[in-house]
Amino acid sequence: MMLALYNTLSNRVEPFAPLAEGRVRMYTCGPTVYDYAHIGNYRTFVFADILRRHLRRSGYELRHAMNLTDVDDKTIRNAKAAGMSLTDYTDKYIAAFWEDMLILHMERPEIIARATDHIPDMVNTIQQLEERGFTYRREGSVYFRIEKFPGYGKLSKIDLSGMRPGARVDQDEYEKADVRDFVLWKAPKPDEPYWESELGPGRPGWHIECSVMATKYLGETFDIHAGGTDLVFPHHENEIAQSEALTGKPFARYWVHCEHLLVDGQKMSKSLGNYYTLRDLLGRGYSPAAIRYLLASVPHGKQLNFTLEGLQQAANAIERLENFRFRLAHSSFPEGANPEIEAKTAAFPEALRKALDDDLNTAQALGALFELVRDANTAIDKGQLCQGNVEGILRCLEDWNGIFDVLPPAEGISDLKLDATFQLSAEEIERKIQERQDARRGRNFALADQIRDALVEAGVLIEDTRDGVRWRRK
Ligand code: AMP
Ligand code: ZN
Repeated sequence: MMLALYNTLSNRVEPFAPLAEGRVRMYTCGPTVYDYAHIGNYRTFVFADILRRHLRRSGYELRHAMNLTDVDDKTIRNAKAAGMSLTDYTDKYIAAFWEDMLILHMERPEIIARATDHIPDMVNTIQQLEERGFTYRREGSVYFRIEKFPGYGKLSKIDLSGMRPGARVDQDEYEKADVRDFVLWKAPKPDEPYWESELGPGRPGWHIECSVMATKYLGETFDIHAGGTDLVFPHHENEIAQSEALTGKPFARYWVHCEHLLVDGQKMSKSLGNYYTLRDLLGRGYSPAAIRYLLASVPHGKQLNFTLEGLQQAANAIERLENFRFRLAHSSFPEGANPEIEAKTAAFPEALRKALDDDLNTAQALGALFELVRDANTAIDKGQLCQGNVEGILRCLEDWNGIFDVLPPAEGISDLKLDATFQLSAEEIERKIQERQDARRGRNFALADQIRDALVEAGVLIEDTRDGVRWRRK
């Protein structure tokens, strides 16, 4: 059995195998940092986080890149309205995003690419597209001529019959009905930021940003491209057109999309106003763990309707698991081991893996855990659970929590000999230290302290020296 993923490109569930044995290269479209992200956005990021964790646990070395869209129509519009420079404005929401990611226990991708740090790369790519005849210029802007790319529409299966060659669209976001030549480089507008370049003054369109950064960090062809399902058209379709027009090679091999978080049957979105930010929900007393649990509980291929009752049920489920763990740790059981429970705990890691291998079926993974909890509780009630079963069950909980990450560290868990997978790797420690540095640079000292405390809790001591940060294990 191996991982199988639903690929939007082929419309099928496909067995997953990376191009290079043992190494996965993955790209996620990151946030547009024009405001606080809402928990619909975080559904997609939690899905990417679970995919990351499952890939790494399956033994792959992972190179995961994510961009920060800090220049597009929305960031420019909001920065202008706030009377701030684009950089000052987006800095604030980038810091807020990292804070939310940390609160929701999301691992930081190996590579973070900020769009405005890559303008020369984008200009260069657009020039190459020009040289190969895929573009044209109008009034200082450069457009991609979709007629020149025969594969256009293969991801979104869009109907091209109504297409009018030469009709153009300037906005970064548009509807399927608007299938038109899209903008690569936008001529400056009054009061808008722009860059001087060989293409003339202007700024990049949103789609070229991702094509350029993904290729720069992952190569011309890479394994997985992830994002929310609203990005399939036009964003991902345009990414494919730009990248494949240039290289003649497949861009991403597996396109995986997370279905929407809905509210009353409609996509949670800023424009509809039907959204909650993470801060809104924490302010109402819900825990980050309950939010993460809820977002993770429905497999990414299915829509998830958000309600506060659903969130309360998630909180209750976590409480049940914590109570169960407490009961295990604090009751005294007869000596020996119950062989039935022993067999169930032995089979659990395989059941968990199987569920996640099945296109990340998180609902099935939850089902497997609660089945084990139910069986163990029944055995306890009948006086049939033995001391020799306790460690095995705790291990299953930890195993599951290594993916879902919603339970606090167990008391006395350090007495258990846990596998190396449960320890922070050197790479993870370095990444957390980097997050702390970023937080300090953003003058978010509360967050920086929180990261240091979390590291200490994980048994890592850090020391700030003149030559940078040093760390060692306790
Ligand atoms: P944005 O910051 O708008 O670029 O969105 C960041 C990510 O959130 C993208 O992958 C979107 O597809 C995703 N997204 C936006 N709204 C939702 C939603 N209601 N449910 C799930 N994912 C969403
Ligand atoms: Zn993107």
